[in-house]
Amino acid sequence: MIRHSDISDILDGVLDGRNLDLNDCIKLMNSDDVQLLCLVADTLRRNQFGNTVTFINNLIFNYTNVCVTYCKFCAFYRPPGHNETYTVSIEDGLKRIAIARDMFGITQVLMQGGHNPSLNIEYYENMFKAIKEKCPSVGIHGLSVSEIDVITKVERSSTKEVLTRLKEAGLDSLPGAGAEILVDEVKEQISPLKISSDGWLRIMEEAHRLGLRTSATMMYGHVETVEQRAQSLMKIIELQKKTGGFMAFIPWSFEPNNTQMQEEGMISYSAGGLHLLKIIAISRIMINGLIDHIQSSWLTNGISLAQLALNCGADDFGGTLHGEEVVTATGARSTTLNAKKIIDAVKQMGMHVAERDNFYRTIRHH
Ligand code: SF4
Repeated sequence: MIRHSDISDILDGVLDGRNLDLNDCIKLMNSDDVQLLCLVADTLRRNQFGNTVTFINNLIFNYTNVCVTYCKFCAFYRPPGHNETYTVSIEDGLKRIAIARDMFGITQVLMQGGHNPSLNIEYYENMFKAIKEKCPSVGIHGLSVSEIDVITKVERSSTKEVLTRLKEAGLDSLPGAGAEILVDEVKEQISPLKISSDGWLRIMEEAHRLGLRTSATMMYGHVETVEQRAQSLMKIIELQKKTGGFMAFIPWSFEPNNTQMQEEGMISYSAGGLHLLKIIAISRIMINGLIDHIQSSWLTNGISLAQLALNCGADDFGGTLHGEEVVTATGARSTTLNAKKIIDAVKQMGMHVAERDNFYRTIRHH
């Protein structure tokens, strides 16, 4: 089948261990050979992970919805002074985490929120220290680099200083949010007040150099072109070649419901299922041998599609979710998922399930 495709040379190359470049990536993105892309991506995944799929028992903790960045793709934030704003106190945050640990056995809290200029670094330091003291078994995967950028501005400090202090307070790793598409022409259209592409990459590099490992993400399916998608992925790959600090890549499709972009008629529908499988497959093919893990993006695409993604290059189901509010704000779908549902979903695919910690180390088999 590979011999009859216009992407045969690229796919043969990656199966022979060759790293691919921007032109290869653009060709793959322009190809309609989705089945072939998925087949090759699945082969690469199996070569690396066999029949095992991982997930993490996780609490999402959106600590504040106050935000002054007004991204046009976001349905979650509220501006300062709005009557629906909230900020969770350290005491209440700690209670939520302790309850989730006791009830669900979580091993990670994913802590992300709006860009709230009234929170200084002590809020985060005190939160992290309290979590580590009361719930030492729970890893803290928290604060996108754009949140780090805002804390730096509030503190009039440097990102290196902020990252160092947060790491000392207990921050274990950083999520990859805020990347969207790492091309400034795109960012100017969808999130003009947010950190630039170079800023995102610079803070990620600083985090990696300080020993903080991170994820990387791509939010696709809005105003970006195929070439810009490919450029964004390649920027992440180039940084990974320098630092090796990315543990996982998580592509997810833009959900327009309740967003300014939908209101302004910029986009009406999400990119859909076939696109997700294609992007997951291309991601596996492009990052082969460079970044280990790809998540199946169940949160924005649903359980059934995430199951199929496991046959198209994804090796990690992501996390259980309790308390997520960002995607929930789009009304896309129910965003609560417990460990049993993930285990059942993976087993339905005939695969073995392992639970992992926030560094992707297996902690138990199911
Ligand atoms: S995506 Fe984040 S930074 Fe942008 S408006 Fe929403 S909460 Fe604020």
